[in-house]
Amino acid sequence: MLSKSKYCAFSQCPKRLWLQTYKPELSEDNAALDARMETGNEVGDLAMGLFGDFTEVTACKEDGRLDLSKMIEYTRQLVAENHPVICEASFSYEGNYCAVDILRRENGGYAIYEVKSATHEAEIYGIDIAYQKYVLEHCGITVTGTYLVCINSDYVRGEELDIGQLFKIIDMSNGVALEAPLVEGQIKRAEETLAKKEEPDYDIAERCEEPYHCPFWAYCSRHLPEHSVFDLYRLPKKKKFDFYRKGIISYADAMAVPSLSDAQLRQIQFRLSDCGNYIDKGGIQDFLNTLSYPIYFLDFETMQLAVPQFPGTKPYQQIPFQYSLHYIEKPGGELKHKEFLAESGADPRRAIAESLCRDIPMFTCVTAYNRGFECGRIKELAQLFPDLAPHLLNIRDNIQDLLTPFQAGYYYNRAMGGSFSIKSVLPALFPDDPALDYHNLEGVHNGSEAMDLFPRIQDLPPEEQAVARKNLLEYCKLDTYAMVKVWEALLAAVQ
Ligand code: SF4
Repeated sequence: MLSKSKYCAFSQCPKRLWLQTYKPELSEDNAALDARMETGNEVGDLAMGLFGDFTEVTACKEDGRLDLSKMIEYTRQLVAENHPVICEASFSYEGNYCAVDILRRENGGYAIYEVKSATHEAEIYGIDIAYQKYVLEHCGITVTGTYLVCINSDYVRGEELDIGQLFKIIDMSNGVALEAPLVEGQIKRAEETLAKKEEPDYDIAERCEEPYHCPFWAYCSRHLPEHSVFDLYRLPKKKKFDFYRKGIISYADAMAVPSLSDAQLRQIQFRLSDCGNYIDKGGIQDFLNTLSYPIYFLDFETMQLAVPQFPGTKPYQQIPFQYSLHYIEKPGGELKHKEFLAESGADPRRAIAESLCRDIPMFTCVTAYNRGFECGRIKELAQLFPDLAPHLLNIRDNIQDLLTPFQAGYYYNRAMGGSFSIKSVLPALFPDDPALDYHNLEGVHNGSEAMDLFPRIQDLPPEEQAVARKNLLEYCKLDTYAMVKVWEALLAAVQ
């Protein structure tokens, strides 16, 4: 049975549909996709109320799976009774199934409203809705409109959530009209693809990233050498595939390309012949001269919610809820630590702003790794709390960027692999230190996991809340400890 998600998978690449049907075990584990789906479910549930009272179609089998036959039958009954708003309205035509997020009676027929947690329209949504329209029309429904319901990124939440403002509705009739003549042929080709026993022969191409990163990339790109043009630092996607099609694939192939940047060439040279550490002592010393004692190491964790939880916040706004702060007061001084973690479920901004002002004196040298992020959050807090603004802006103005010496090429070794993120630089500088290995942490290993976990803590049982908070604190603490170690490595490099 084809569904709208399978139809869209086929639109991206026939091989993707075939693989997800017959070899799903080859799909990459995708935590980001899981998080996106959870957000999508929350947004979808909220959007059901957009047009007032509604009837939701749902039916489960004994094993918990959806009972599609019952849902289709129930939908038929609701349509026959002229129900004004039907959510998850289910239809099937010759093995093509779809559940419409919101089906609304309009102008003597029904309009399709497809709900997405995105903030803007995209070609794939027109493809998705065109498939739904095809199925509905062949089930005898007069489709009088096709719309996308997505998040209005300009919405600022008041005391209460206003879903009429949170969502914006985009007329998709143009995009749907472009796809509509193709649907029948696409369905036929998808069925032919699925009828074949052999895996379709499609090579990697731009489609692997458009409109989504394909979860079979690792499988389909397994013929690439361990280090290939796809790993080159800041090489645009289009160029990577252009090189690939011209047979410029390995680092050895790429050496001959005249248009590579210095950083890309260095990445290749260090990989092909182990040149050890490249150290520009003068450049590193110039950077270190911008730092002074007492020296602080600051890192934020933030959350980005599709549905704003707090008054005055927007969808997907970066809201800081945690920081870690290591500091050393004088040369050879003891390494000390402070931290802040807000209560899940409450607006953290006032508390984190006050805590920052308590923990970091004015006119103090603070370091961040990629300072733009921390500076941006501090500026937003200063705009929100004018009484704290002088102190907060003073902290911001004294932030130096530990990324600078790496981005400027003052320190490089092959293990960095062309990336200057702290998650690449740290293991390259300290390859065998288990205390600096994020894999050894419990529960939270990166910023995305922290971002997903924090808002959910409020719904966990108390004992799990304590564990979650401990894991978040350990994770963020390692981030700033890592910065201290990176700074120490820079000091050692100029000795
Ligand atoms: S990785 Fe690319 S070639 Fe492979 S299935 Fe996905 S889109 Fe198709």
